[in-house]
Amino acid sequence: MRVYLCGVRGSTPAPGADFVRYGGHTPCVAVAHDDASAPTLILDAGTGIRSVSKLLDGGPFAGTILLTHLHWDHVQGLPFFAAGDRDDAEVDLLLPEQADGASAEAVLSRAMSPPHFPMTPSDLRGAWTFQSVAPGERQMSGFTVLAREIPHKGGRTFGYRVSDDHSTLTFMPDHCPTELGDGPEGCGAYHAAAVELALDADLLIHDAQLLNPTELAAEARFGHASADYAAGLGRHAQARSVLLFHHRPDRTDAALDEVAARFADGPGVAPAVQGSVLEL
Ligand SMILES: [Zn+2]
Ligand SMILES: [Zn+2]
Repeated sequence: MRVYLCGVRGSTPAPGADFVRYGGHTPCVAVAHDDASAPTLILDAGTGIRSVSKLLDGGPFAGTILLTHLHWDHVQGLPFFAAGDRDDAEVDLLLPEQADGASAEAVLSRAMSPPHFPMTPSDLRGAWTFQSVAPGERQMSGFTVLAREIPHKGGRTFGYRVSDDHSTLTFMPDHCPTELGDGPEGCGAYHAAAVELALDADLLIHDAQLLNPTELAAEARFGHASADYAAGLGRHAQARSVLLFHHRPDRTDAALDEVAARFADGPGVAPAVQGSVLEL
């Protein structure tokens, strides 16, 4: 599979000269099959989804948008996804089944409707469907996707394991493993769902919003993981490489260079860079 990192920033976009190299768009990862350059599976719809349109050579998007959860930074690109908002687009949007039983379209509409926003999901042009996804395995746009609930803050959150015939990508952009205990290294539990999702993955894309115990303590109310946890889960689950993802909005290029240097000695752990294309 081919993986396009279209948005790697967490919480809110980070524009400006200090954020040029790692990028300021919020989470969006587009996935294409080996034999096609056009992505057919989009993981999260942060502001980075705008650049997916450029990957489609002027054509419409036909495929699946799969959301890990509904926080602003993972959905606010949706109405600005030009390749999805046109008459010839065909889009299946899936999001975690809600605890209150609300339909996918109804829960999405809570934030995407007046007075919060001028249009609703049903105003998007093209053939859109809105569906809930339950934990478990299913096929989406020719990929096998395993969904598992993982701890975060404020609403149900899933992590996903996306596989084709020969490679596996694990996507856990927002994850608060300290909710389930400190774990062996004090940065969160390597719990069963996280390990199952990441086991032997070719690439683990994981929340690394926080860098140290001080940040973990100070920002606990947002429900994120540390870079040490992301690297540790990768080791624990024997993932072949780890991308530190969901960079804090004030983490400058210089600060992320320091993060890169800190992990440079270990195998395959690096901060995610917007615009990267990876072949798995
Ligand atoms: Zn987020
Ligand atoms: Zn979140």
